Amino acid sequence: MALLVMKFGGTSVADLARIRNASLKVKREVERGHQVVVVVSAMSGETNKLVGLVNDAASGAEATAPGFYDAREYDAVVASGELVTSGLMAIVLQEMGIQARSWQGWQVPVNTTDAHGAARIESIPRANLDAKFAEGMEVAVIAGFQGVGPDGRVTTLGRGGSDTTAVAFAAALNAERCDIYTDVDGIYTTDPRITAKARKLEKIAFEEMLELASLGAKVLQTRSVELAMRNKVRLQVLSSFNDEPGTLVCDEEDIMESNVVTGIACSRDEAKLTLISVADRPGVAAAIFTPLAEAGIVVDMIVQNVAEEGRTDMTFSCPVGDVAKAEAALEAAKARGEFNYRSLDKDVDVAKVSIVGVGMRSHAGVAQKMFKNLADDGVNIKVITTSEIKVSVLVDRKYMELTVQSLHDAFELDRAP
Ligand code: ASP
Ligand code: MG
Repeated sequence: MALLVMKFGGTSVADLARIRNASLKVKREVERGHQVVVVVSAMSGETNKLVGLVNDAASGAEATAPGFYDAREYDAVVASGELVTSGLMAIVLQEMGIQARSWQGWQVPVNTTDAHGAARIESIPRANLDAKFAEGMEVAVIAGFQGVGPDGRVTTLGRGGSDTTAVAFAAALNAERCDIYTDVDGIYTTDPRITAKARKLEKIAFEEMLELASLGAKVLQTRSVELAMRNKVRLQVLSSFNDEPGTLVCDEEDIMESNVVTGIACSRDEAKLTLISVADRPGVAAAIFTPLAEAGIVVDMIVQNVAEEGRTDMTFSCPVGDVAKAEAALEAAKARGEFNYRSLDKDVDVAKVSIVGVGMRSHAGVAQKMFKNLADDGVNIKVITTSEIKVSVLVDRKYMELTVQSLHDAFELDRAP
């Protein structure tokens, strides 16, 4: 009998009516002859509420920031949201005549590391589940987002972690597929708010999904996509509010036909910083990026250019909200004599637009076509970076939408391959 993992996110189990609606989808799969493992999130808003309570409870303590109070108790509290939905769904399924029971993370067990609040799953032994399936259980309703640490205490996996729970179960149980039911009906070629021509993809490769994180991040926790890629778990993203087919996230080899460019991602709030005239010698890049890393600044694009003899210019991009912090970290390091530069150029009005597709590996001229398109639109490119399956450019923020729309047309993403 084929085993299916079905995961329902917070909006899909937000109240009893929605839990019933989700349960009907589970029932349908049971009737089709599937063994089903359901993974549920907490009702939407519930985890935020629990985190708030923890913060309030700790507010008398010396240090109240998360991480300063007992993280084991944080986990004990925030894991409870999923316990509620797993029990409720088991009851609703039983009312529908299905042999269902709830499972808390420790009961399976979902073994994790001891990093409370951000634990990683180490193993999911299947013996307990298999024994209950053998006794006639038709559906196991698993509380997502949680596990048990080496010390026997409840752990949680980090926000959005129930996607990772679902994929980990699919991998451990060799599931036929892992269906992620959510409030969007799939992955689109680009943000539909930017162009009405955005098209829902039938399939997308794991690597493309990871590169398109800015499109998919709200839909799937990135970690879950990495886990699915490593274990070749076929993931389907679909809406719990209709019966439309969703998007299958799968291995490149499982996709027969695709466009050269699969999707276009963009990110609005970028900044570009350039250190003018730094010494061209070993160790300079390390010296520049060390204080930035220590300040917790996530640097994205990096370009180094030879300027005059023995000097280079170093350009990088980071979130616009981090510019002041980056500047302070660089100035401080310069004052300590760690490296030198003549001046720091800041451009805080840029956005990043990226085209992504595994087809780029075997097609020439993709970048050229992108650049020509921007040229025809009169859009100046400020920084370019590439990977094997992606070309990213920084442009003036005011041109972001235009650039996305124009590239979507140029690469005919509105047409199915
Ligand atoms: N309930 C948890 C959260 O809100 C886990 C999840 O929904 O994936 O982060
Ligand atoms: Mg989620």
